[in-house]
Amino acid sequence: MTKTILIVDDTKLNLRILIDILSREGYAVFACTDGLKALELANRINPDVILLDIVMPELDGFEVCKLLKEKDESKDIPIIMVTSETKSQNIKKALELGAFDYIRKPIDEVEVSARVNSALRFKTHQDKLKELAMKDGLTELYNHRVLIELFVKEYEKQLELKKGICFAMLDIDFYKKINDNFGHTSGDMVLREISSIIKSSVRFCDIVGRYGGEEFGIVFPDIELGEALRLCEMIRKSIEEHEFNVRNKSIRVTISIGICYKSAKEHIKYNEMIEAADKALYKAKNSGRNKVEIGMHKVI
Ligand code: GH3
Ligand code: MG
Ligand code: MG
Repeated sequence: MTKTILIVDDTKLNLRILIDILSREGYAVFACTDGLKALELANRINPDVILLDIVMPELDGFEVCKLLKEKDESKDIPIIMVTSETKSQNIKKALELGAFDYIRKPIDEVEVSARVNSALRFKTHQDKLKELAMKDGLTELYNHRVLIELFVKEYEKQLELKKGICFAMLDIDFYKKINDNFGHTSGDMVLREISSIIKSSVRFCDIVGRYGGEEFGIVFPDIELGEALRLCEMIRKSIEEHEFNVRNKSIRVTISIGICYKSAKEHIKYNEMIEAADKALYKAKNSGRNKVEIGMHKVI
C-alpha cells in the first residue's frame, strides 16, 4: 500500500524540495506551511511519517510534536524534525519530545530518502506488533482485553451522544462434541468460519471480539433494539444454514445469543450490560439453544 507522508515547513522552497524528493520515491505526499494546519491534516490523513520543521511562526515544530505525541490517534506516527538549527540542545529537545529522527538543512536528497525509509520500516514493524497485541491469533477478531476496552469507549461515546448501545454474547452450541468427534484442528476451523460469518454479518461500525474459548462478544453502537435483534437473528440463521466441511463430512452447527440493550434513557453500567447479556445467553442455552434471548436489567 502507498505510504503517506506529511511535510510541514513554513519556507515554501524547502517544502518544494522535500515534496519533489518524496513524490519521486512514490509516496503520497501532503504538505502544509503551519503548525495548526499540520495538526488538522495529521488527524485527517493519518500519515505514516511526518517531516516537521522546527522554526515556524505561531506553533513551532516542538509544540506540534508535543501535541501530536499527546493524542492517542497520532502518538505512534514517527516524526522526523527538519532543522537548520545545528545546536545539539534543539536536537536533544526534539528527541525528548518523542521525535523519531532529525534531518539537517540544507536538505540532502539521499539522506532524506534514507531517513524516511528507516522511519517507515519502524512504523510498519510497530503497526504489526500493535495488530498482534490487539487480535486473537486463531480467529483474527479482537481479543478479550481490546473488546472490553473498545466497548467502554463506545459506551461512553454513545452516552454522550444520547444514543442506544447493545452488547451481545454468543456461544457455540455443543462445541465440545465437534472437538470430541473430529479433533481440535477441525474445531479450530469451525471457530474460524463462525468468526468470519459473524464479521461479515454485522455493520462496519460494530465491534466483534473473541470473548473466551468458543464465546464471542459484539458491540453494536448507535442502534435501536429492533435492529440489534434483527442482526443477531441474521447471524444465528446464517450459522444454522451454513455447511461446515470437516474431514470430508458436512456438519451443521448452531449458536446461542444473549443480548443486553441500553437505550439513551436507561442507566446501566457497561459491566452490568455484559452480565445481563451473559445471563440471557444462559437462558437461551437452557431453553433449547439456537436462539436469541434479550437480557433483563433494572431500569432506573
Ligand atoms: P454448550 O452448548 O452448553 O455451550 O456446550 P459446549 O460443548 O459448546 O460448551 P463447553 O463449555 O462444555 O465446551 C467448550 C469447549 O470449547 C471446551 C474447550 O475445550 C473448547 N475450546 C475452547 N477454546 C477452543 C479453541 O480455541 N479451539 C478448540 N478446538 N476448542 C476450544
Ligand atoms: Mg458452547
Ligand atoms: Mg462456552
